[in-house]
Amino acid sequence: MEAIVLLGAPGAGKGTTAEGIVAAARYAHLATGDMLREAVKNGTEFGKVADGFMKRGELVPDEIIVKIVDARLVGGGKDARYMFDGFPRTLEQSRLLEACLKQQGGSLKHVFFLEAPRDLLISRLTGRRICRSCGRNFHVVNIPPKKAGVCDLCGGELYQRSDDQESTILNRLEVFRKQTESLVAHYERAGVLVKIDAAQHRDVIIAKVLELLK
Ligand code: AMP
Repeated sequence: MEAIVLLGAPGAGKGTTAEGIVAAARYAHLATGDMLREAVKNGTEFGKVADGFMKRGELVPDEIIVKIVDARLVGGGKDARYMFDGFPRTLEQSRLLEACLKQQGGSLKHVFFLEAPRDLLISRLTGRRICRSCGRNFHVVNIPPKKAGVCDLCGGELYQRSDDQESTILNRLEVFRKQTESLVAHYERAGVLVKIDAAQHRDVIIAKVLELLK
């Protein structure tokens, strides 16, 4: 099993980068945020617990994250290649990932750290719109759809995530600084961290990541 991680503050462009990688390379995209939103939508036991944390922009407890990630890794086989997006977010989650990879004889190949200044993160998050049907990301200014409110790809309705409101955004950025930034030092020490300037155009970022994955 091989794994790569997309690490970065909310709005750094993890989801958009993941879309580009999946289109060009054989990686299963595991975004814990997407998995949790699905659980909330379906009203599952985990979804009911996660909902409040997500609305406040706080991290969902590690026990839940561990279970949802574990369930997705079961039966992947030794040739499986995973791209984690938004996971791990705490040192405890990174330990879980390392244990899991070790157990399956796999390795963590790269951790791509998408770095962007705070102002850019805020403007990206406030303008972000997502397709309700296919999940494609848009931005009202940077990646506008051809027709306002409508997905270019599938014609689905574009919506704004409830946690992309300014007050929640500020909390999510603070949570990232407090709880997730320590992972940067952790992965730097492990020699797997690749820093990427996330202010660059998404095509440049995707090309850089794909080059390193060759
Ligand atoms: P995201 O889509 O990655 O921005 O995640 C949206 C929300 O889901 C976050 O603000 C957290 O509440 C929750 N979440 C997603 N991934 C994790 C994780 N690995 N650990 C804890 N909470 C998470």
